[in-house]
Amino acid sequence: MTVNILINPFFLLNLMKISNDLEDLTNKIKNCKLCSLYKTRKNVVPGIYGSNNELCFIGEAPGYNEDKEGYPFVGKSGKLLDAMLREIGLERKEVSILNVVKCRPVTEDGKNRIPSQTEINICSNTWLKHQLEYLQPKLIVTLGSVALKYFFPKAKVTKEVGLFKTTNEGFTVFSTFHPAYILRNNSEFMRETYRNHFKQIYFYIKSNNVLKKPPIDKALSSTNVKQSRLDNFFS
Ligand code: SF4
Repeated sequence: MTVNILINPFFLLNLMKISNDLEDLTNKIKNCKLCSLYKTRKNVVPGIYGSNNELCFIGEAPGYNEDKEGYPFVGKSGKLLDAMLREIGLERKEVSILNVVKCRPVTEDGKNRIPSQTEINICSNTWLKHQLEYLQPKLIVTLGSVALKYFFPKAKVTKEVGLFKTTNEGFTVFSTFHPAYILRNNSEFMRETYRNHFKQIYFYIKSNNVLKKPPIDKALSSTNVKQSRLDNFFS
């Protein structure tokens, strides 16, 4: 009698030790063809690991510029994220920046689109999950709904932004808006809300000794004057 056994390839993949180190894992991501997004990508965007890996920002997926260059947050959204990091005394090279999905989801007419749930599940359960296992960040900041829902599937970003929560794996997660959302909804109120979120991140990392090299004490001084770096960004 012949017995046909169907084995899910992702089950097999999880059975194997995925990689020996972060560099090896990153190389595997760069060669991944697990979902159909590999067919339309120019570059895989595994993410960047900063000198202060204890703080990790997670976005949704690469867009046009990220796909072109192979790095996360290099377009206008990235420049806004850089401005917000400088607002709290940090540089991009100090933090880890990852995406839930590593290849650009694109529409038939070449525009960015939100990744499908299948693409999110395949990519994040294979790669992001293991990146976080290696990095073990002391604080994760989710940028937008897709990243928040990776940790808390039932969460609604409009209700949960500005909150610290703990995942089942023990990660501390702070949720805020994706910079692209702030760019699309630019108003004094949204800029103030975003600035306050980054203030919360700043005070958390200071009071919980999250970073080996903490941000400078005067980091938030610009928020005491009318023109902050964020206002300058939009002026
Ligand atoms: S999106 Fe993720 S799972 Fe899909 S091909 Fe790219 S790296 Fe692989």
